[in-house]
Amino acid sequence: MSQTARRNSTAEWQAQDLAHHLHPFTDQHALPSQGVRVIARAEGTHLYDSDGRRLLDAFAGLWCVNLGYGRKELAKVAYDQMIELPYYNTFFKTTTPPAAELSKILSDMTPKGLNRVFYGLSGSDANDTIARMARHYWNLMGKKTKKTIIGRHNGYHGSTMVAASMGGMSYMHAIADLPLPGFTHIQQPYWYGEGGDLTPAEFGRKAAKALEDKILELGPENCAAFVGEPIQGAGGVIIPPDTYWPEIQRICKQYDLLVIADEVICGFGRTGYWFASEYFKIEPDFMTLAKGLTSGYLPLSAVMVGKRVADVIAGDKGGEFNHGYTYSGHPVSCAVAMENIRLMRDEGLVTRVHNETGPYLAKRLNELKDHPLVGEVRSLGFIGAIELVKDKAKRKFFNPIGEVGTICRDHCFANGLVMRATRDTMLLSPPLIWTTADIDEFMELARKSLDQTLADVKKKGWL
Ligand code: PMP
Repeated sequence: MSQTARRNSTAEWQAQDLAHHLHPFTDQHALPSQGVRVIARAEGTHLYDSDGRRLLDAFAGLWCVNLGYGRKELAKVAYDQMIELPYYNTFFKTTTPPAAELSKILSDMTPKGLNRVFYGLSGSDANDTIARMARHYWNLMGKKTKKTIIGRHNGYHGSTMVAASMGGMSYMHAIADLPLPGFTHIQQPYWYGEGGDLTPAEFGRKAAKALEDKILELGPENCAAFVGEPIQGAGGVIIPPDTYWPEIQRICKQYDLLVIADEVICGFGRTGYWFASEYFKIEPDFMTLAKGLTSGYLPLSAVMVGKRVADVIAGDKGGEFNHGYTYSGHPVSCAVAMENIRLMRDEGLVTRVHNETGPYLAKRLNELKDHPLVGEVRSLGFIGAIELVKDKAKRKFFNPIGEVGTICRDHCFANGLVMRATRDTMLLSPPLIWTTADIDEFMELARKSLDQTLADVKKKGWL
């Protein structure tokens, strides 16, 4: 047990935290009665709380710890870089060796044409950067009315005012009168929840057609870009039908909109591809990267900028790009990102998720379809969802939605499993290092938690 855990002062940490720490995405008022969980250490695929309880992390932290916990190689690189050059900025015509080297690596590994990188610290600030760059691009092109960015309802792109405006979550908009002007949203490609009697293929085309309708409503001359996660993560691991992205791509081309692929979750092997844009054949003008870029060991985000935009903003008309963060291209974060990518490559993790562990996870998840609460399971590589429903035949959700998911999530925790719930959809995003044995452990805990949830639901008379 580590030094921190041995201090055995859970109550003390909880008291300090309750008194002074305002948490993200937490009902702060309800926290004293619910208690805060203290995660004290982690190793490989497991977390340990401050009382030494072991939890299987099926969520890779927050969709980010792709290499798993306790990788000494990453710590060593960070240490060495801190000794050599702990910080220098990349403003005013300056770079550092890690920032320059990582830029080349990212340009080589991302889809064709994405050859320039702008660094930030989070997915949210990266999406803010993209919104500014997109506007800047159209201004430079002399198309000054092309301003509106179109996202999807229930899309998630971050928590800053701009990123939350790009996203389409009503509960995000509610807290600060969002979206800002210049951001609007269309239907999400969520067949299971919204597809009705249409086949997935038909629904995929319908959901894409909503983009064309919106562009025509606003006027193409007013539309700057379309933004989407290849697979919506926080919205419920919504994997669009195969017909969706090709139509989106075609419509953006026809009406001259830039395409923004937010790969903050999907990037770095999560789907069994280095980037989900490869799988869906998206040809983005901007790609947002964060999370798996460093496996979450240090904060870093990267905006990959396509040739079309880069040629203009870095061209003779571009001028000074008055935008940047003190920590843009932080040398320690960049060094850790390079080591993270090297390890993922050397260990063949993406290929393993694609060929072996991803298909094995899908096969085992499918076994849950016999469970009375499970309406659908879906996954691609190591991102997946389990829909808990009232009526499987009619794809009918519980009403109100969200309570059954919370009950299931709490049972998971009590059984030593970390899964997240969005509505009544259980979400899965394990570290890419999971072996078939980890998947078997997961299945055992998940089924037990589902059985306990079913018993509760029956006791309450909801089924
Ligand atoms: N985009 C997507 C698709 C995300 O899932 C997230 C975070 N979950 C973000 C952007 C924002 O990233 P961050 O929390 O690092 O700001």
